[in-house]
Amino acid sequence: MAETIYCYHCGTRHPKEEMRQINTKSGKRWRCIKSIEAARQPKEKREAFGREVTAINKAEAQAKARLVLNPER
Ligand SMILES: [Zn+2]
Repeated sequence: MAETIYCYHCGTRHPKEEMRQINTKSGKRWRCIKSIEAARQPKEKREAFGREVTAINKAEAQAKARLVLNPER
C-alpha cells in the first residue's frame, strides 16, 4: 500500500515518493514534485498548469480572509 500525502498545491493526495516538504510563510507544507517543476517552467507552460489550481488557491485565500475578518471563530 503506497503512502500518500496531501498536496496543498493541487488540493489532492499524491504518492509520498512524488512529494517534497517545503517551507512557506505558514510553516512546512507538502507539495508534489510535479507542481514544483511546473513552477520552474516558462510562463506559458505554467499558466496551463495554474488554471487547474487557481480555483483552489482562490478558495484558500478566501478562507484565510474570512478567518481574519472573523477572529472570534
Ligand atoms: Zn500536487
